[in-house]
Amino acid sequence: MSHVFHRMPRQAYPVAVGGEGAYVLDADGKRYLDASGGAAVSCLGHSHAGVIAAIKAQLDALPFAHTSFFTTPAAEALADLLAESAPPGLDHVYFVSGGSEAIEAALKLARQYFVERGEPQRRRFIARRQSYHGNTLGALAVGGNLGRRTLFEPLLIDVEHVSPCYAYRDQQAGETAQAYGERLARELDATIERLGAETVIGFVAETVSGATLGAVPAVPGYFQRLREVCDRHGILLILDEVMCGMGRTGTLFACEQEGMVPDIVTVAKGLGAGYQPIGAMIASSKVYEAILAGSGFFHHGHTYVGHAAACAGALAVQRAIAEENLLARVRELGAGLASRLRQVFQHHEHVGDIRGRGLFWGLEFVADKAAKLPFDPALRLHARIKANAMHEGLMCYPSGGTLDGRAGDHVLLAPPYILEEPQLDEIVEKLGRAVDRSI
Ligand code: PLP
Repeated sequence: MSHVFHRMPRQAYPVAVGGEGAYVLDADGKRYLDASGGAAVSCLGHSHAGVIAAIKAQLDALPFAHTSFFTTPAAEALADLLAESAPPGLDHVYFVSGGSEAIEAALKLARQYFVERGEPQRRRFIARRQSYHGNTLGALAVGGNLGRRTLFEPLLIDVEHVSPCYAYRDQQAGETAQAYGERLARELDATIERLGAETVIGFVAETVSGATLGAVPAVPGYFQRLREVCDRHGILLILDEVMCGMGRTGTLFACEQEGMVPDIVTVAKGLGAGYQPIGAMIASSKVYEAILAGSGFFHHGHTYVGHAAACAGALAVQRAIAEENLLARVRELGAGLASRLRQVFQHHEHVGDIRGRGLFWGLEFVADKAAKLPFDPALRLHARIKANAMHEGLMCYPSGGTLDGRAGDHVLLAPPYILEEPQLDEIVEKLGRAVDRSI
């Protein structure tokens, strides 16, 4: 019996013992092509020598120094790099250990911002249905993934949820993408009016919907309209790029492709690429300066904030993305992956939608393509596809839709940026066999 408290205690897991580029190796010598980067994490694959050397060097020099006593060269250099690369104004980087912590920090900073400004009556967030922002209680509260939050509903702060931007299901026949985006902006506007703008702290959204919907980019103009609505009401716009940030969509920050800048952005997974557990909340000068001019103290913190070895690892990851010209590679490989997915799955009778951006793609499965009817959730189709893909030696990230029948099972692909062209073929071939065996 294993004494590890596994996520699914009744399941037997293969034992991972090695990594080689885009592959994970198990104890029986089987190789798995990591087409999902775990959960969109391992963007440099599993054996990047430069990153490993940088972490070792940091460990030799100093593994950890608590941030209530010290800063470190690694944290300073990584924050400089992120602030220089982020959209204008996003200059202040707060390090954490992962995505949920980044969201918690963002929610607390946003609340404190208004308290510092003398508006303590602002106490509510608005977020989106069918979204995922993490598994801690604050992050679950803003999230709209019913499967993950329903059990904990009684423990969650009160958050108002509006529609996600999900064109495949929600853009109406005859409605242009622009009109659809405007309709969603009006919904947010009306929600703020109904709650009373003076009680609202901010609006939270994933720039590209990840774990709940499966790599769904917004329609063009949507985020610009939302930015206008937030500005008109004086509320903060918080974008969650934990999954879609750090180059995953072909630009370092996904919001660079949306023509607007949020007040706070969160990143994690691709920041440390799995070499170290690390995330970050990046705040605009507007928000940061309110704290600086006010109490001068952010009422938040964890022991491992700015962990030296984690920052050194993430710094090496981010330098590799820049020096190895990987953003261009993401765009190029992403186009190749998209065309192969369309070739193999577009006419598949149970693939309703293929969507994504960069190296971030989702396939949504439907029982009836014309009616966009999801499979019965009890079939757990996504889990079957994942299991059959593992049998094939392929990792893909599954999700069971949204339980409310408003999205189907899907799988997410988020392979490493260092992938080779033939591995694109390997992904679609193995996934094709796994899908056919599952339905
Ligand atoms: N936000 C988004 C958009 C995510 O996709 C995730 C994880 O999948 C999180 C937050 C939570 O991140 P973590 O699992 O590192 O806490």
